[in-house]
Parts: sequence; C-alpha cells; structure tokens
Amino acid sequence: NIIAFTNGFHGVSLGSLALTGNQKFREAAGVNLSDVHHAAYAGYFGDDVDTISMLDKLLTDRSSGIDLPAAIIVECVQGEGGLNTASISWLKRLSMLCAEHDILLIVDDIQAGCGRTGSFFSFERAGIHPDIVTLSKSLSGYGLPMALVLMKPKLDAWKPGQHNGTFRGNNLAFVTATKAIRHFWADDSFQQDIQQKGELVKRHLTQMVAQYPQAELSHRGRGLMQGIVFSDPAWADEVTSKAFEMGLIIETSGSLSEVVKLLPPLTIETENLEKGLTILSKAIDAVVKSHTPKTASSFNVKSAQAAQSTREFNA
Ligand SMILES: *Cc1c(COP(=O)(O)O)cnc(C)c1O
Repeated sequence: NIIAFTNGFHGVSLGSLALTGNQKFREAAGVNLSDVHHAAYAGYFGDDVDTISMLDKLLTDRSSGIDLPAAIIVECVQGEGGLNTASISWLKRLSMLCAEHDILLIVDDIQAGCGRTGSFFSFERAGIHPDIVTLSKSLSGYGLPMALVLMKPKLDAWKPGQHNGTFRGNNLAFVTATKAIRHFWADDSFQQDIQQKGELVKRHLTQMVAQYPQAELSHRGRGLMQGIVFSDPAWADEVTSKAFEMGLIIETSGSLSEVVKLLPPLTIETENLEKGLTILSKAIDAVVKSHTPKTASSFNVKSAQAAQSTREFNA
C-alpha cells in the first residue's frame, strides 16, 4: 500500500495512475487502480485544517481502515494539480511522520525538480532527506527523454538491468544531462538567477490579481512554476487562447483546468520573460473586459448625457 495526495499527478503508467488523483487521467486506465490510499494534501481543506495531524491519526488508529503504507509519495509543488504548494513546516512534519511510522518518503520531483522552484531539488528549502526521489522532464537539459529514480543505497534491491526496456539508457541524454548539471549547477549563480526571475514573476502576477478584483483571481506557486487561479475555469481557457493569438503558448492545470500556469525555460532572458508576462497581462485584460457588464454608473452617466443633449436639441 502507498499513500499519495489529493491533486497529485505521478504519470500515466498503471502504477503511476493509481497514485494520480485526476479523474480524467484515472479513467484512461480501463482497469482498477488499487493499492493506493489518497490523503489530503497541504491546505486541501483550507488553511485551518492540519492535514498532517489527520494523516497521523489515520495511521495511528488501528481501526481507521487505512493500512500502514510502505511509502508516501508527494510533490512539494503540485504541477498538474494546480500549483498547490506545501509549506516548509508541512514537509518537515510529513518527513517526521514517515520516520515515526517507518514509512519511506518519496518526493516526485519530475516537474518541480531540476531547479524549477529555485533550488535543484524542490525539497531543499525544507531540509528533508527523502528515501526516494524521481526526476525526469527537463533533466537532460536538452529536451531529450530521460528519467531517473534516486534511492538511498540500502533500498536498492534490484539487480543491474532487472527493470529494463528497449530504449532505456539514452546515452545522448546522459551526456547532455551531465553537461547541464556541470554547467548550471557548479555554483549557485544559476540558482540565484532562477530565484530572481521567480520574484519578478510573482510581482507581475500579484499585480494582475490585484488589478481585477471583480474577476476574483488568486496567485499560486513558487519559483518558475507560478500561475493565476480563475474562479471561473472557462476564463482560464479563454486567457490561454487569447495569449496564443498574441504569440504566447501557455497552459492550464488544476482539476478543473482553472489555473493558468507559467512554466518558462529556466534559462529564459529577463527581457523575454517580461515580454511573455506583458502578453499574459493583455490576454487577461481582454478576457476580463469581455465579461464585465457595463456598470450601472457608467450607463447612467451616458443616459444623463443623452438626456442633456436631447434637452439642448429641443431648446
Ligand atoms: C510529468 C510528470 C510525471 C510523469 O513523468 P513520466 O516521465 O512521463 O512518467 C510524473 N510526476 C510528475 C509530478 C510529473 O509532472
């Protein structure tokens, strides 16, 4: 038994789908997805509900009906799940809970890793040491297929090449990944650069949120995976289409596709990043305006002016 979290996304092979929360993806399996229990992620029931205490209670109570799992798998920032973020203290307490109950902690760093949230691993800020870490997506540094599972050596029960496949072990990707790690992660300048760009994105996004109170937008995410949550998911979709018309490819995430998610290349120049943010801001502006009814006051001003001109005409 493994415990995964609400809104978690872990891939589309059967084992990964069992861990994934999203119904659309789960339905594609066509078979039962079992051996996984889903627990509430950080903030799932709002800020006031402590989901680590809830999980602790379920694991401690011998009659909760939840079997003690072999492992708990978590994303520090939920990429596909809508950019929900776990706080440092939540991650620390999750790690402690795992240690107390003798459960392995797996961090799925496929999307949030490789520098995306500002440090190479997304869990570094929390100072925790997961037993297993998954990496993929931008790992090769060159857009080539490559994935890794890191594990503490004592957990490595596999024989060499035991879990294999025809195209695994992509040599070119190994070369580019090595080069990328040596080039970008030799010192902390790249890391600082990502953090600065993350701050820039945050400034712009919080400003967009503040600019349209009537649209009830909110900001989420960390580093170079941030986004804007739309209270009406249809608006998020319209924003991405509008942005596309203006030359920007941007996608949505979240269970209702309600979050417009920025996932720019980590190496993007500040100028290009600002250009993209400007397009996004224009797209939001256009969508919000297209949905805003003429307010009563501006209507009244116009009709008052019309009445005035009618009087002048009559006179
Ligand atoms: C994309 C993604 C996966 C799936 O990775 P694959 O290498 O395609 O299996 C798993 N977890 C997260 C968090 C992802 O974003």
